Amino acid sequence: MANATTTQTLELKQLINGQWESATGKQAQSLNPADPQEVVASYATATEENLESAIAAGRAALADWDKVGIIGRGRVLRRAAQLLEERAEGIAVLMTREQGKTLADSRGEVGATVETLYYQAGSARNATGTTFPSGNGDELVRTIRRPVGVVGVITPWNFPLQIPAWKIAPALLWGNTVIWKSASDTPAVSVAFANLLIDAGVPAGVLNLLLGPGSLGDALVSHPGIAAVTFTGSVPVGHQIRERTVLRGAKLQMELGGHNAAIVMPDADVASAAAFIVAAAMSSTGQKCTATRRIIAVGDVHDKLLEALKPLVSALVSGPGIDADSSMGPVISARAQREVEEALDTARSEGATVLAQGSVPADAPGHYVTPTLLGGTDALTITREEVFGPVATLMRVANLDEAIALANATDFGLTASVFTSDEQAIRRCLDEVVAGLIKVNGPSTGSEVHAPFGGLRDSSFPAPREQNGDSCADFYTESKTAYIRTAPAGHAS
Ligand code: NAD
Repeated sequence: MANATTTQTLELKQLINGQWESATGKQAQSLNPADPQEVVASYATATEENLESAIAAGRAALADWDKVGIIGRGRVLRRAAQLLEERAEGIAVLMTREQGKTLADSRGEVGATVETLYYQAGSARNATGTTFPSGNGDELVRTIRRPVGVVGVITPWNFPLQIPAWKIAPALLWGNTVIWKSASDTPAVSVAFANLLIDAGVPAGVLNLLLGPGSLGDALVSHPGIAAVTFTGSVPVGHQIRERTVLRGAKLQMELGGHNAAIVMPDADVASAAAFIVAAAMSSTGQKCTATRRIIAVGDVHDKLLEALKPLVSALVSGPGIDADSSMGPVISARAQREVEEALDTARSEGATVLAQGSVPADAPGHYVTPTLLGGTDALTITREEVFGPVATLMRVANLDEAIALANATDFGLTASVFTSDEQAIRRCLDEVVAGLIKVNGPSTGSEVHAPFGGLRDSSFPAPREQNGDSCADFYTESKTAYIRTAPAGHAS
């Protein structure tokens, strides 16, 4: 496994029916965002033939995986959690090399993934259905859950381990088989995770990993052999996947972008609010769907908040994620860097003020973007369109009505936070802010694996939309209602 000084290029293969196979598609690479000269992994992308083989393997493996039973499948996930604890440091270093996030963030993501695997393993012992009274004396009425079939899993690069685990672990627990198309910028982390699941005892064909671009994902979600698709990524891709799946009757779960607001009320503890807001806006270089992008200050708190935010933002230091002094790493790619810089230029040309900036290393080869706090109004494009980088905009409103209206003035509805001790304001925000996750006096980022997580409006897709918590079983299973008479009517003794 990789260590902090490894710069060797990993040669990756596709996992199909329990075998690591070389593909014959186009050559592709993942690069170290902190040093793009360094090729982290190299691979040939999967072909349509590979896709067909993987789906055939997934279908063939369904019956035996079903027979293992949910308790046995839970044991496999528990073993995977233990293996991930053993391999944690190597995978965290690899993640920092390939994705760019700080080693502290990578370690945090590995730890959260261990918790996800233990949580899903433990869920094996939860109730799997409901029983109901019957109007017939000797009849039992109950629901049972059955696997959906072969599930297509499509994941982004920003959480290359945790988001796949949120999907793959419950899919496997409930008896499905999986074809996983991981993000093309982080293939090495996905291979490390798939390898670990195989070592934990996932049988051949139950998990198949295909490496390749978005067009491979499109072929996967369009395939009639895929019964359900779980996707996390951008809104445009999500909309295309909706067309490919829903019309042909496949189940779909999507987690898409966000444009998350933090409302700061006049009575807020300003120092604490500022610290949470900067962490939520800037950690992981702002490349979290749940990052705070808009800071809405109500009335006079604006100036005090600005004074508290400025030194925190100015102290941020971008640098290689492997370097303990870096507050944040680079963004994922040259393209991402260009997009964030262009969005900042547009904001300035539209009248945004630069209120505070952190630093980027001079003459460093990585894709660094200066952490930036902007001031302005909702007339700025950047306050409506998702920019995936370390940028947030401070806006001022007169009262709570205006704050809620502004928080809701995007097409998204992922997360939000409100900073106040005013019970009335808390209640109104919980009721009226359109977001699937709302934190009071906390950051818009972060969630617990045992609580449901999902967005509203363009940030998700209607029911059953949520990942994690009990409710994810509704996506990974089909429910049947059984009426069971132990003796046929008229023959009861
Ligand atoms: P993306 O949509 O470009 O790609 C996501 C995945 O979809 C990748 O594996 C990609 O190869 C694949 N893909 C691309 N085109 C496809 C197509 N036509 N059909 C099928 N699959 C296709 O997103 P990204 O750049 O990897 O990730 C960043 C985006 O993800 C941001 O918008 C962010 O907000 C969102 N995100 C959302 C959440 C959430 O929980 N709501 C979490 C993380 C990231």
